[in-house]
Amino acid sequence: MKYLANPTETKEVLRRFGFDTKKKYGQNFLIDENTVRKIVEKSGVTKEDCVLEIGPGIGTMTQILCENAKKVVAVEIDTGLIPVLEETLSGFENVTVINKDILKCDIGELAKEYNEGRPFKVVANLPYYITTPIIMGLLEEASDHIESLTIMIQKEVADRINAEPGTKDYGALTLAVNYYSEIKKVADVSASCFMPRPNVDSTVISLLVYMEKPVKVNDEKGLFKLIKAAFAQRRKTMINSVSAVTDHSKEEIKSALELIGKPENIRGETLSLQEFAALSDMLSVQKNNGM
Ligand code: SAM
Repeated sequence: MKYLANPTETKEVLRRFGFDTKKKYGQNFLIDENTVRKIVEKSGVTKEDCVLEIGPGIGTMTQILCENAKKVVAVEIDTGLIPVLEETLSGFENVTVINKDILKCDIGELAKEYNEGRPFKVVANLPYYITTPIIMGLLEEASDHIESLTIMIQKEVADRINAEPGTKDYGALTLAVNYYSEIKKVADVSASCFMPRPNVDSTVISLLVYMEKPVKVNDEKGLFKLIKAAFAQRRKTMINSVSAVTDHSKEEIKSALELIGKPENIRGETLSLQEFAALSDMLSVQKNNGM
């Protein structure tokens, strides 16, 4: 079998099918075999696993995933790539290609149909125009059906996911991803590993989805409302930003901050996930007590 993860083979397939890559779908295909193998290796996929690949493109990483996994379910939005994939993956019997938008897929249904209801390992070189909706959609809606995600994303988004409290990159995305998963950086990847070259830097990260969340809160929705409010106007104090967009009064927030040992002029960008959780619980206790 001819591996596609090199410039010659990729160009040849694109030429043969008369396929022009589409910017609107974030089509930057991998052309570096070492990078593809590294992503698959770091995903920890074995012959026991069913992989969900988002955006197989012409099948470059799918080939290596098929060699390493029990089964690969590859969801590709671009109908124009389906005949290409039929040919490039014709040597594999353990792959199913689904022509659909991943944001419209019911991951639980896919797990039932292809993996006896067990969770997938997600592996993907993600389309950069919808990185955050895909990550957040999978974590918020489908974390029960996903064991891990090993994904190539823009370096700028990886930096935001990995950020420490008090830094400019720290925000609602950092906290949300940390709530659902343990984050590890795998590698930075040069633009020369793609065709066409993207005009942003890329990073591979892995997210190991928690079976048990690192913090327990009375009201999960309330926690995320609080986090969103805190970062909607990140230069404001918690008291001002949270009271502006929630039904908590300045007095309530001040007293809740005091009870968790934080000063009244604190800003959200310095609070850890554990501190947001403590504040969220304190505010919900106050509300329930009619304060
Ligand atoms: N995996 C291939 C590779 O590494 O060479 C292609 C990666 S390319 C960065 C992103 C792929 O995702 C493209 O094939 C694109 O058509 C597909 N894609 C874009 N938006 C999508 C969506 N909403 N649902 C499923 N696939 C999508």
